[in-house]
Amino acid sequence: MEYIFCKGKLEKKTAPFTVERKDYQIHYNALPAFVCVQCGEPVFEENALALIQKSVKSIEEEKLRLAV
Ligand SMILES: [Zn+2]
Repeated sequence: MEYIFCKGKLEKKTAPFTVERKDYQIHYNALPAFVCVQCGEPVFEENALALIQKSVKSIEEEKLRLAV
C-alpha cells in the first residue's frame, strides 16, 4: 500500500487527530491510521473516521440539549 500523493510506503500505526469547531475541539492522541513513512501524512481508516463523526454528532446533540 502506498500513499497516493507521494508514493511513500504506508505503515499501520496511530496518529493524532483534531476536529476544530468555533466553540470546541475534539482531540484524539492516537487513532488507528496508515502513516506515510516518507512524509508522515496519516491516512485514517474507515472505523477511525466513523469514530470521529460519532464524536462530533454526539457533541452537537448535547449542545442542542443544553440550549433548550
Ligand atoms: Zn508521503
